[in-house]
Amino acid sequence: MTATHKPNLAGLSRAKLRALFADMGEKPFRAEQILKWIHQRGVLDIDVMTDISKDLREKLKQTAEISLPKILEDFKSEDGTRKWIVEVTSGSHVEMVFIPEARRGTLCISSQAGCSLDCSFCATGKQGFNSNLTVAEIAGQLWWANYHLGVFEDKAEQRVSNVVMMGMGEPLLNFDHVMDALSIMMDDCAYGLSKRKVTISTSGVVPAIDRLKDYTDASLAISLHAPNDELRSQIMPINNKYPIKEVLRSVQGYMDSLSDKRVPVIEYTMIAGVNDHRQHARELAVLLEQLPCKINIIPFNPFSLSDYRRPSSSSVTNFRQILQKAGYTVTVRTTRGDDIGAACGQLVGDVEDQTRRSERHKRRHAESELAKKDGAKVFGSTDNLAVTADRL
Ligand code: SAH
Ligand code: SF4
Repeated sequence: MTATHKPNLAGLSRAKLRALFADMGEKPFRAEQILKWIHQRGVLDIDVMTDISKDLREKLKQTAEISLPKILEDFKSEDGTRKWIVEVTSGSHVEMVFIPEARRGTLCISSQAGCSLDCSFCATGKQGFNSNLTVAEIAGQLWWANYHLGVFEDKAEQRVSNVVMMGMGEPLLNFDHVMDALSIMMDDCAYGLSKRKVTISTSGVVPAIDRLKDYTDASLAISLHAPNDELRSQIMPINNKYPIKEVLRSVQGYMDSLSDKRVPVIEYTMIAGVNDHRQHARELAVLLEQLPCKINIIPFNPFSLSDYRRPSSSSVTNFRQILQKAGYTVTVRTTRGDDIGAACGQLVGDVEDQTRRSERHKRRHAESELAKKDGAKVFGSTDNLAVTADRL
């Protein structure tokens, strides 16, 4: 990526492209032409855009650029899952993951390098925050996935049908860029993804959820992970600022604003001995009574800086059955791409660790390893979690 101040055509939504062309004294339909060239045909060279006059192409080359993030590595899992390491302008590395299934292909996209929210079970959170991705860096992940899957050359065996903003970072803390990127993903002149198949996942940034309806009608997933404020605040510091009741109220408001009937997905990462007890499932069933929703259980995916454990399959089954008996539709996310570190919550991007928090976590981890050897109390029980709300 080059750091210029020219507008980057790959990161402009239809509305922004139209405004750009209006400023140039050009017709608004130029916006649609550019979207199609870049996002449907995969063309990044302005000279190749032959339905645009030579004069305008020259003008565009002087005043604008087309720039995408760099792909540094491409991993293929035994189960077909793909993971790409992406370098963004700040120099940080983020990850995106493609999960092929029989009837759909899901691309998991990052919105930030690192994350400031420090959830205790999340590898990205352990890194701390590094930078917000630009619109071109967010939508560009979909461009690259299409490129690697052969979509632009019309020889793709698999396609991206669904996008989930469940990679690195909190999408609603990079609000403007994520909104424009979603608009490109759902634009018929670009990727044309259905609003039902593009999902924003959030830890519950209430003021941003409240604003969401004015910018998008994408689907919504909420990372809840606990049935009460006490436990949620222990594992998700953001809960100190926006407690469960406020989050659920705000989510209901967004769902009410949609023109079709859709329900949010409640994400519940199950961590052994922390939030996986039958009583937690019963409490969750009561808590969600007022909110029509689906529940998605994600068994915790271990990573090196965490001593949390994955729950046994019997406790996942019990948890699921309690919720199903209470009338909920419940799915359990199967782990995909584990062998390439692509499973949910394992995305760490630049493992060279850019922040002090990461150093702190490493130190704490090393200390706990020592303590284990000494037979002392170990990291991993809820009262030992590092939860502070000071970075919100
Ligand atoms: N910041 C957003 C989106 C990225 S995280 C959010 O929190 O929703 C995507 C999902 O992965 C979230 O539901 C998150 O809670 C979950 N997750 C994070 N770490 C995990 C881990 N180690 N195991 C399983 N799920 C994890
Ligand atoms: Fe950030 Fe989401 Fe990870 Fe929490 S779970 S630290 S909000 S990326």
